[in-house]
Amino acid sequence: MNSKEPIIISGAGPIGTITGYYLSTQGIPVILFDSEETTPRDHRASTVHPTTLDMLAALKITEKIIPQGIISEIFQFRDRFDDRIVAEFDYQALDDLFDHPFALQVEQHKVVNTTHKLAENSAYFTLLRPWQVTNHIQDEDGVTVTAKNPEGETETFRGKYLIGADGGRSITRKIADINFPGFTWGERFVIATTEYDFGTKRGGGHHYRNYVAHPTQWSALIKVAGDDMSGLWRILLPALEKDDSGFKQGSVEWVQHKFVECLPYEDEYNIIDINPYNVHQRVAETFHKGRVLLAGDAAHVNNPLGGMGMNGGIHDGLNLAEKLVDIDRKNGDPETLLSRYDRQRRSMATKYVQAQSIANKKLLEENDINIRRKRLDDLEATSLDKTAARDYLKKSSLWAMLQDAEKVE
Ligand SMILES: Cc1cc2nc3c(=O)[nH]c(=O)nc-3n(C[C@H](O)[C@H](O)[C@H](O)COP(=O)(O)OP(=O)(O)OC[C@H]3O[C@@H](n4cnc5c(N)ncnc54)[C@H](O)[C@@H]3O)c2cc1C
Repeated sequence: MNSKEPIIISGAGPIGTITGYYLSTQGIPVILFDSEETTPRDHRASTVHPTTLDMLAALKITEKIIPQGIISEIFQFRDRFDDRIVAEFDYQALDDLFDHPFALQVEQHKVVNTTHKLAENSAYFTLLRPWQVTNHIQDEDGVTVTAKNPEGETETFRGKYLIGADGGRSITRKIADINFPGFTWGERFVIATTEYDFGTKRGGGHHYRNYVAHPTQWSALIKVAGDDMSGLWRILLPALEKDDSGFKQGSVEWVQHKFVECLPYEDEYNIIDINPYNVHQRVAETFHKGRVLLAGDAAHVNNPLGGMGMNGGIHDGLNLAEKLVDIDRKNGDPETLLSRYDRQRRSMATKYVQAQSIANKKLLEENDINIRRKRLDDLEATSLDKTAARDYLKKSSLWAMLQDAEKVE
């Protein structure tokens, strides 16, 4: 590969940015386009797992994001129906596997902006924003990408490969005519933020990441650092089709009411913001079509329970970047390497991220009383058995997925 010809990346979210930064550190020029002028600050990923922290450490990102986040060793499952703590899992149990045996609660935009800062002085890293990628045409030698500049004019760029890291609605995936099969959950998810401290005894003594099971009012409760590091709590709630709360779904009153139903420790929470989301479970039919590659949400989307979307996407991006470096250094046949990327990451997205995130939702929302008690009892037993708890943590941290992927030829 002529290393003067860049790799073009559509999308400078976490996946495009980290993939591009890795390539630039290896002397491969990258041009990233993002249609937004600045990194969106909406409430998305907030949990970075130990596998990802260890990978990002090699890029010096981990040391920069740790001071901006909260170290979270333990995560907890509760049952709101029977009002009990069901299970606790502690990443310290895997301290023989990880240099960072904890999750970091850190907002997605901090990860992205920190990486942009690290990359900004690299001669190999060019970020163009707000530039919107509108089209691409590939041939035997490369890809011609069309993008709209900030003045609304169209310009073309030539790259050796195009990485579509442009999120769940990826235009790259659509133009490459790659199907995105799967389904959309019937209910929307609502995320609300409050300064109320659920870590105190009065607030229920929660850890920084908690999943609360209930047949109709399940929730996830997570602490993030906030801009000034004083701490904010985010609750994720389902906005069910059948809702007898009497309040407009997604309104402040509805969220207040849900807080009290889900976590009845206080009757007034100062709610800072509320964001509704449609949630999908989809995996692209291929992550590799000629010179067009997909990574992150462009390749797969899942519900946020377990915090695996961004983590899995970063794993995609770094796997792909290593293969592109091998191609650059003529360490293998390009088609063989990129097909292996597709086989490794697509199969694992289905086997681990999709399976685990769907199982997490089913566990929390199960409304058959016997099934729910059995599932929660099983989870409790898993947490109390050292070997079973380690196996569970290996899966939830995506360590098992990475090991499994290595076996894919
Ligand atoms: C509520 C919620 C909570 C979540 N919590 C977690 C969590 O705790 N842990 C976790 O791992 N994951 C979590 N996720 C998932 C995570 O947010 C996504 O997996 C992650 O954002 C994917 O990153 P990405 O870079 O692939 O896509 P995105 O973050 O969507 O970035 C895509 C970028 O592409 C740009 N773009 C789009 N189209 C174009 C175009 N045509 N031209 C140029 N640029 C374009 C966009 O502006 C954007 O910047 C959560 C998601 C949600 C909704």
